[in-house]
Amino acid sequence: MIGCCDSRVSPEVIFDAGPGELFVVRNVANLVPVYAPDGGTHGVSAALEYAVNALRVKHVVVLGHAQCGGIRAFIDKIEPLSPGDFIGRWMSMFVKPGEKVEQRDHESMADFTVRIEKAAVFRSLENLMTFPFVQTKVGRGELNLHGAYFGVAEGSLFVLDKDAKEFRSASQEVGE
Ligand SMILES: [Zn+2]
Repeated sequence: MIGCCDSRVSPEVIFDAGPGELFVVRNVANLVPVYAPDGGTHGVSAALEYAVNALRVKHVVVLGHAQCGGIRAFIDKIEPLSPGDFIGRWMSMFVKPGEKVEQRDHESMADFTVRIEKAAVFRSLENLMTFPFVQTKVGRGELNLHGAYFGVAEGSLFVLDKDAKEFRSASQEVGE
């Protein structure tokens, strides 16, 4: 499970999981970096490596959420909070070289924000596939990647329909 640091988006609470049930990595805006075997120290990649190759998890879920402060900071292009600008640098991985993330004509700020929060899930799923060991296991059908989005205000969970590229209410899926 790859989730955000946001205290309102606890995967264990949302999925009603007890100790030993979920292997969780949380970071600002639930981002997975691109595979980069460059000798650097990569926390998310280390957790992913362990989950996939040692624990042999069958599923990886990227859990995005509404009202994400990391996404908001990215959209608002906030001033660095410290000289290191760690949030700014971290969020910059969200944008591919040459890509522009902008509010569309007639798109409200609220809609824009939700679109980017969901885009963070798509980007992380895309980046997961840059890891050779993920790609291989997905290809063999031994690993499944999923996207989800949590509405913190209503406590509602949406699951990504990858074919339709849309998030659908999880409660509808189980016929509630
Ligand atoms: Zn967040």
